[in-house]
Amino acid sequence: MSHSGLVQVEDYEQFVGAETIERIRRKARLLQDLHVVNLNSTYYGGGVSQLLSSLTLLMNGLGIRTGWRVVHGPPDFFSITKKMHNALQGGKINLTARKRQLYEQVIYENAIRNHLDHNVIIVHDPQPLPMITHYRKNCPWIWRCHIDLSRPNQELWDYLVPFVEKYDAVILSSEDYRQRLETPQLFFMPAIDPFSITNRKLSQDEIDERLRHYHIPTDLPLVVQVSRFDRWKDPEGVIQAFKLARKEVDCTLVLLGNTATDDPEGEEVYRSLLGSREERIIIISRQDGALVNALQCRAAVVVQKSIREGFGLTVAEAMWKGTPVVGGNVGGIRYQIQDGDNGFLVSSIEEAAERIVRLVKDKQLRERLGQQARETVRQRFLLTRLLEQYLDLLNSFEAVFPLTGAGRVQG
Ligand code: UDP
Repeated sequence: MSHSGLVQVEDYEQFVGAETIERIRRKARLLQDLHVVNLNSTYYGGGVSQLLSSLTLLMNGLGIRTGWRVVHGPPDFFSITKKMHNALQGGKINLTARKRQLYEQVIYENAIRNHLDHNVIIVHDPQPLPMITHYRKNCPWIWRCHIDLSRPNQELWDYLVPFVEKYDAVILSSEDYRQRLETPQLFFMPAIDPFSITNRKLSQDEIDERLRHYHIPTDLPLVVQVSRFDRWKDPEGVIQAFKLARKEVDCTLVLLGNTATDDPEGEEVYRSLLGSREERIIIISRQDGALVNALQCRAAVVVQKSIREGFGLTVAEAMWKGTPVVGGNVGGIRYQIQDGDNGFLVSSIEEAAERIVRLVKDKQLRERLGQQARETVRQRFLLTRLLEQYLDLLNSFEAVFPLTGAGRVQG
């Protein structure tokens, strides 16, 4: 870390080599004086805020002025947008005129409040999507959707498409989410910041301290899932898989979760799990990045048994620590885990249980998969790769748009 106390791109040299750093610097030099803004709907909780907090600082460190704004709204707004999130991942939605009106009105109010006179505007996920309709558009607007769009609810998607098609580019996390759209689509997988509290190297003492602080027993191997409390992460399935697994091996399950300001369902999901708590099933609702880190480091097995998953930063985070992950065979998890090489992909509770048992019993297997897992993340899922994709995109805009434009609210 530089003397400024901020991570700089050079800090990544130890992981990605000097050539990559020099290439990134060269690409960034072409973009000096650019003013970029990101818009999303929560400042903490969930992968998007994790990504933005690291990426915006890294881009500023490279001389590209990059901001981050958060849209505001009342609880009913976030209740509607969470329903939309669920429907985009394949759930049902009753898309009444009242819901559409409230959604569009709150975003209109945000457009009035936010004076965007940037050269590039990056809008994340469906919550702020209609912002674009309120600006006189004379700079590139990008819609970056992080959701698993493999089976979106058609009615909702048809409603959103006219907003999406106003954008100049759409970024999705994987080719599998490609939609029929007029707008060009790009595919950027998310990535992790190895210097964040969640991912930086911890000493054994620091790990012990965090686990002790939360009274997490370490006498038996730990099986861990770290996730927002969300049904798509299948926490009930994890508990069932654990109960099957412990018929064969002694272990302790820890489910650590948080909630996000734009996800009103978290509290309810958390409460629904509390009946399953027992001495060896520990369920914690806390925002503590160092605890996430400690658990991912110390776990014998990390589980991410999602039913849908746009990407799943928690998978890359655990893999970076050399911990093998048993992941649901869905969405972005399938691009991180190569079954049997650097972790396991599973499609049922029984399969998850069987892989947990194998890993808990076999230290050599854990070490082999864990080493491969870390190497996968080093090669493909560190933030420098994502940063470079953004720089390439911005440079490609520079070729077509004069990046001096601004978007002003239409009168
Ligand atoms: N996270 C956390 N505390 C928790 C649960 C999750 O800090 O109790 C973090 C986790 O480390 C990861 C992010 O929240 O960085 C979740 O991102 P992911 O892509 O896995 O899922 P999302 O919540 O975006 O669906």
